[in-house]
This record gives sequence, C-alpha cells and structure tokens, in this order.
Amino acid sequence: MASPANIKNLRNIGIIAHIDAGKTTVTERMLFFSGRIHKMGEVHNGQATMDWMEQEQERGITITSAATKLIWNGHEIQIIDTPGHVDFTIEVERSLRILDGAVGVFCAVGGVEPQSETVWRQADKYKIPKLAFINKMDRLGADMFKTLIEMKEKLGANPLLLQIPIGIESTFSGVIDLVTQKALTWETDDGMEYIINDMPEELMQEAVRQREELIEKIAETNDKIMEKYLSDEPVSEDEIKLAIRDATISGMIVPVLLGSALKNKGIQPLLDAINFYLPSPLDISLITGINPCNDDTITIKRSAKETLSALAFKVAMEQGRRLTYIRIYSGVIKSGMIVYNSTQRVNEKISRLLKMHANKRERIDMATAGDIVGVVGLKNTSTGDTLCDEKAPVILETIETYEPVISIAVEPKTRADQDKVSDALKKLIEEDPTFRVKEDKDTGQTILSGMGELHLEVMTTRLKKEFNVGVNIGNPQVVYRESIEGKATGEAVFERELTGTKHFAGVMVRVEPIERGKGIEYKNLIAGDVIPSDLLDAIMSSLHESVSTGVIRGYPITDIRITLVDVQYKEGESSEMAFRISAQAAFNDACEKAGPIILEPIMKLEIIAPEEFVGDIIGDLNSKKGRIDQIQTQGKINTIMAMAPLKNLFGYSTTLRSATQGRGTFTMKFARFDTV
Ligand code: GDP
Ligand code: MG
Repeated sequence: MASPANIKNLRNIGIIAHIDAGKTTVTERMLFFSGRIHKMGEVHNGQATMDWMEQEQERGITITSAATKLIWNGHEIQIIDTPGHVDFTIEVERSLRILDGAVGVFCAVGGVEPQSETVWRQADKYKIPKLAFINKMDRLGADMFKTLIEMKEKLGANPLLLQIPIGIESTFSGVIDLVTQKALTWETDDGMEYIINDMPEELMQEAVRQREELIEKIAETNDKIMEKYLSDEPVSEDEIKLAIRDATISGMIVPVLLGSALKNKGIQPLLDAINFYLPSPLDISLITGINPCNDDTITIKRSAKETLSALAFKVAMEQGRRLTYIRIYSGVIKSGMIVYNSTQRVNEKISRLLKMHANKRERIDMATAGDIVGVVGLKNTSTGDTLCDEKAPVILETIETYEPVISIAVEPKTRADQDKVSDALKKLIEEDPTFRVKEDKDTGQTILSGMGELHLEVMTTRLKKEFNVGVNIGNPQVVYRESIEGKATGEAVFERELTGTKHFAGVMVRVEPIERGKGIEYKNLIAGDVIPSDLLDAIMSSLHESVSTGVIRGYPITDIRITLVDVQYKEGESSEMAFRISAQAAFNDACEKAGPIILEPIMKLEIIAPEEFVGDIIGDLNSKKGRIDQIQTQGKINTIMAMAPLKNLFGYSTTLRSATQGRGTFTMKFARFDTV
C-alpha cells in the first residue's frame, strides 16, 4: 500500500510484447524474485499466476489484464499484464491509458514481431516511457543486435544498450553492465543470487567499445554530458544513470536489457532498471480534466493531498459481484467512503477496497494517488468513468471505445442451457463494453457481437467452459445498420375496439437523413397542451424502440432525425397502447418512403510494410473496395492509411502476411457505418 510519502517509489508499469515473447514468464519471474510467489508457475504447464483464466491457460495466451503488485528494493511496482492480440485492443488501450511506464519484452530469436509493433505504437500514442528486455538469450539463434536494428527500423525507437551478454545460446550465463562495467553472472538454476565480478578479459574490449557508444548516445540527449564528453572529462556512473533516466522519461531513448526469463537470468537488473529509469506518478506531468459544471479544463496535481480523482478502467464480474479496477490520480480513497461518479452524475459507495494480485486479493482500508486498486460496491460505474469529490467535480479524459462489428448467432442446446445462457451473457457484458448481446426477433436466436473473430471465439468458449452452457454457434457475420437517403413523412391511425373499450390514436412522423456517425436525433413539434404528457411519453418511447429494427432487414437504424409532426387525439378513447402502435407504424411508413439503405462497417486501416511491398498492398486494397488516404514514409518503412469495408477484410492478416513475407503489420479500427 503506497502511503502519500512514498509515491516517488511507486511504479505503474505494463509489459507489452508479441505473443510468445515471454511476457508471462518475465512477469512470473519478477514476482518470484520479489518474494511474492514462492513456487514458479510455468506457462506451458498452464500454471502461471497471471494467466488465471482457464481460456488463457488452455491457449497459453493472455487475454484479460490483471493487476498485480510487488515490492523491490523499497519500491512498489504495480504490473498490469496487457494482452497482445489485436482483437483485445480495448483491453490494451484501457491498460496503457493508466500506465506510467512499460517494459517491452522481445524474443532474441524472433526480434520485433508484428504484434509488438502494434502495442508499442499504442504506448507511443500515450507517450509512455519504455524499457526493453531482450528475452530468450539462451535460445539457439539468439541475436540481440538484430533486435536492436529492428527496434530502430520497425518501431522508430532509439535503443540504448545497457548490457552485453556473457556467453550466448546454451552458454548464456550473465551480462556485463556497461554503466558499472561489472560482470553479473547467475550460477544457480533458480537464479535467486547472482555474482558481481570484474569483467572477464575476453569481453573487455567489446565492453569498452559499447560503453563508449552508450555515453556518446546519452550525450546527444544531455548537454552537461555532451560538454564533458567533448572535453574528454570522465563522466560518473551517477551522472550517466541520471541522464539515462531523464532521456527515458522524456521518451528520447529506450534502455535495453538482456536475459533469459525461463533460465532465471537477468531479472533482478530489470527490476532495478524499472525502479531507476521508469517514472513514478510524480515524474509525470499534471493530469488534465474537464469541470462538468462549466466545461473548463482543469489541471490536477498527482498528489495525495489534492481532492480525489480516479479513473475506472475495467469492470469484472466475479462470483456475481462487480469488481471495478480504478487508477487513482490524486487524493485518497477509503473503504466505506461515498465518491461521486462525475461521468454518470451519481454517488457511489466504496464498500471494499482491494489490492489486486492476478486472481487473488487482499482487503485494504485506504489507497492513494498513484495506486491501482479493485473496488467492490460501485453499482453504476463503467469503464472510462471518473470518480471524484462531489465538491470538486472533474471528468478525466475518457478512454476511446470501439464499435462491435462482427456478430455470431448462438442457440442453447437444451432447455436447461436456455435458462443459463442469459445469466451468463449478462455477466460477460458487464465485464466488456465491446461485447453486446441481442435477440433476433425473427429467428429467436441470440446474436453476440464483438470486436473480431477471436474476441467472439473467446466469449463463446467462456460460455461453455466457465458457465457450463451448451450452445450451437453460427458463422461470424458483419454487423450492419440501416438508414435513409431522403426525407419523408409517414402517418398511421389506430382505431379498434378491444374487449369493449375503444382505442384511438393518430401519429404523423417526419424522417430525414443526418450526417454519418451522428446517430439519432429526436424532435417534437407538438405543443405541451395538445395531448396528456403520459401519452406523449408513450409516443416518444415507441419511436426510441422502433429504431432498433429497420425496414429493410431489421438492422438498427442510424444517422437519422425523427420529428413528431402531428397527433390525433380523442378524449376518453386515446390510450398509450394505441399511440405506441401508431407511432411505430407511422415511423415505418416514413422510412419506407424515404429510400431506406443498408450501411456496412467501414474500417480504418493502418498498414505498415517495407517499401517493396507497397504496390501489391495497394493493388489488393483496391480489389477489396478500399480507399487509400495517405502514405507516409519513414526510412524504408511505409505506413499506408486506408479505409475499407469490413466484409472484405475477413482473414486480412493472412493475406497481408503472405503478400509481405510476414513483414507487413496492420491495425484495424472501426471508422463508421456507411455505404460503399
Ligand atoms: P507470452 O505469450 O509473451 O506471455 O510468453 P510466455 O511467457 O507464455 O512464453 C512463451 C513460451 O516461451 C513459453 O513456452 C515459455 O516457457 C518460453 N520462454 C519464455 N521465456 C523464455 C526464455 O527466456 N528462454 C526460452 N528458451 N524460452 C522461454
Ligand atoms: Mg502470456
């Protein structure tokens, strides 16, 4: 638990890497060496502490971000385990948004692989200072120099090598620390202890050369060191380290360390580097937010002495209870306290405060600025909401959200499954704002939609495994919307006698298209005294419901303005039911006359590839009805910005991989629903 006095010793970091680079193993070893876990779990046995969801253990990949804490040399390091797969972008963005620093883990054989490029760039977007750990130095073919070159070429990073290896592949036994010029070797299998010696003779020359390069590079970022360097004055270890720290925090360089997590080598220096080179919450500039009362921008000092500001970044359902993960930026939270959710404008009670360690937790009474904690008791808070003090309200910048664009139909296998399925789905929705569930009125099927094929695959597997629900699953489909091209007015009159009572209502509605992406606007031209307010409410609520099924194929309607133009009312005969039915009929009539159209998801693509493949990539995009917006060149690497319909992009990662010999990477984000 961080007390206000030692925020400077707090590190909120994430580990970002390509699948299989060793992220989980590195995290596991960090926990082990700091004494938090006593028995190491190995990923391939499905035992690692961080990969706690059964899904992840089975696939050996990490899906949900779990937060965990460790203590190293008087510093508290909070690790958010970020997922690596594109489909889980929202998880990655959510966790990056709240990090102060990151460690990129690379495989010494594989180098900078596509997925790490994506996540690395997302971290750049949030200006997160980074360290790099080149892992698997024990593997056949390990080549850290290749990784360094790739960091420059593919990531546009400026790597600063802090160590050189002692031995390589099966003889890898330790590293030379270029700053202290000492040799660190690990001689026991568990790696608990390492020995610090003078540099071995045979590596002396290389170490001196690399150190020279290090100082030269750091001098470029630091005037004082540059002066000393140019006048051949000695630069002290402390000066070098402080200069590295400054240049890391400002994003000018990325210090690089080496090791083998599996063989327990190189982890302690990595922990030291996290403490020394990555920022504490105090090293990061002020956080800005909006005052919800007047929309003014306010800046908040990241201090426990300030009033409360915290951001909810994840909601998980556990044993039927909502667990909300929050990052506290300023002030203090105590259990039992009432806080104000400024995004939803409601008060919420903090019933319990929990310190998180993957799936285990510890109850605490208080948490302060800089902390990441779990909260039980928040009923209305969802991802991206701000918690603060009602007397000093603030809304912190929210996290980008995504539109689910792929759907599949699921059908319960038995009657018993039918009962279980909706409960299970409810829990999954609460956890993940990008996952949606809808009933198809015509077929009775349940339609799940999400961010991508793997996203839905994981959700349906969780249904089966975690909730024991038997379901049949259809093929993934693109999610569509409907809209209109023109302006039209529709009307309907409802007049019927039902069980002896007369029901009467008439409604006239106008519809017109509005700008793409604007959603739905409602307007009411009926004066307040024309019909009773409960009947007017019934009309408006019926219109709100009507937009969920369009007139062409029943897809939700969007980008349309609906105006209630006129009503016919008869005292004593007009009922809510009659108005509801005629409102819907008038709306459908108007839409049918207004030239209904189908809109499909258009995705924004950012493709990064070496220049020799650009021609082929563009040709292929053209055949997919894509539109190229921009091409940027950085050295030999090109970034192509394009838009294309999602339905033509199924399996695009395979297409791109084979068109670029595996060297092209891309990110894909929902742009808007539109016609092609
Ligand atoms: P993640 O997908 O990035 O979380 O990677 P994991 O930690 O799950 O590791 C992927 C695989 O690489 C597992 O089989 C690990 O045992 C193995 N691995 C991790 N670190 C090392 C290492 O330093 N050397 C070797 N040889 N294998 C490693
Ligand atoms: Mg993993």
